[in-house]
Amino acid sequence: MMVRTRFAPSPTGHLHIGGLRTAIFNYLFAKANNGEFVLRIEDTDKERSKEEYTEAILEGLKWCKIEWDEICYQSKRNDIYEKYLNRLVEEGKAYRCYCSKERLEKLKEEQLKKGENPHYDGHCRNLKEYPEDKPYVIRIKLPEEDIDFYDHLHGNMHFSYKEFDDFIIRRSDGSFMYNFTNVVDDIECGITHVIRGDDHLTNTAKQIVLYRLFGKKPPEYAHVPMILGEDKTRLSKRHGAKSVLEYKEMGILPEALVNYLLRLGFSYGDKEIFTFEEMIKYFSLERLNKSAAVFNPDKLIWVNFEHMKMKKPEELLEDLRPFLDKNCSNFSDEYIIEAIKTRQTKAQTLKELADEIRFYCVEPEDYEQKAVKKYVKASIKEPLEYLLEKLKDADFSNEESLKTAFEDTLEKFNLKMVKIAQPVRIALTGKGIGPGIYEMLMVLGKDESIKRIKKMMDALL
Ligand code: GLU
Repeated sequence: MMVRTRFAPSPTGHLHIGGLRTAIFNYLFAKANNGEFVLRIEDTDKERSKEEYTEAILEGLKWCKIEWDEICYQSKRNDIYEKYLNRLVEEGKAYRCYCSKERLEKLKEEQLKKGENPHYDGHCRNLKEYPEDKPYVIRIKLPEEDIDFYDHLHGNMHFSYKEFDDFIIRRSDGSFMYNFTNVVDDIECGITHVIRGDDHLTNTAKQIVLYRLFGKKPPEYAHVPMILGEDKTRLSKRHGAKSVLEYKEMGILPEALVNYLLRLGFSYGDKEIFTFEEMIKYFSLERLNKSAAVFNPDKLIWVNFEHMKMKKPEELLEDLRPFLDKNCSNFSDEYIIEAIKTRQTKAQTLKELADEIRFYCVEPEDYEQKAVKKYVKASIKEPLEYLLEKLKDADFSNEESLKTAFEDTLEKFNLKMVKIAQPVRIALTGKGIGPGIYEMLMVLGKDESIKRIKKMMDALL
């Protein structure tokens, strides 16, 4: 049977990293087994579901290259749910319940007083006649059989049926409950494996009851531990956790975010950095971690740094485009790629990289005070003038030729490299730190470099 997994977000909020991680696991498991990955938007809650959240979820997944083979929307599947519901009612496995809110509240109070867990008492289970024009919900008739299932992470799970009651599957307004639609869709879509957060374990027990009532075999399950914040409580906005698209805006590469989230719940020896192909190749349910992992933003930055270094500069340019200064569009891709190469192994985020190569496209307007004070002194004027003459004759496509121009100057004035390189750096970039001096000169070219050095000398010397 073909493996089919699904990611089933409710569009009641942005796609957060816990959700994305669940999507990643399901996607990778499907791809690792030549299977298919289905995206199901669970938008039955009309009050809380929003179109903009659905859009954001799709955008977040697309950005991460988590591509679905099929997509469906629960809000469009009411006919299917009705069909399944009617079958249960006809077979006497579900029934109408007319109990009022008041009755249920009283029942709950009494049960709590007796020290019992609140549960429905089956009052409407065997109604012979239905009161006319009164609202009703549909409940299942809970079979008196214990519930067992195997979970790939938790092992054999056991629940007593006594922990549950005749739970509602359709509300009085005609809308369906989560557990019901979830099971109907998993059956209809031929889902073979469900990977989701372990906060759903109790739901799974209820869902197993529904599979039994439908006479269907449940899928296989893997309930993964939650992601925790540094204080070991469930990760939330409180910990600074962002929606997936905020990481995009921060300048994180999608493959780095996917890699980081995969490792947060999965291990393959000590391996930290995975390409997309490796993720698919190595993924298996057996390698999912059983204990919860703590989200560490610094490690995410490090993983991003590693992925940025690994990327071909021409590919990195595509990720970098949204972050580049608008002036960069006046330059050719080839020029920007050369600029990227001078900083690719140093910058930690795309945003940082864009900032650090901005000077290649925008000449400095002012100069960093601290660096100027330290390096741009009157005594450097004459050596710089000499260097300019040498640079005029140098070949800017040849590092050796540039080196010779500098070395001649150092020798003539008996200077250390830093004394001349720093003022040149400040002239070219406006700052005291940046790429190697020869690399910068080679990218900027002769005319621009000389122009900038002169401009700085006019301004400061
Ligand atoms: N819509 C549910 C959620 O977002 C789906 C859970 C599941 O994977 O079954 O929690």
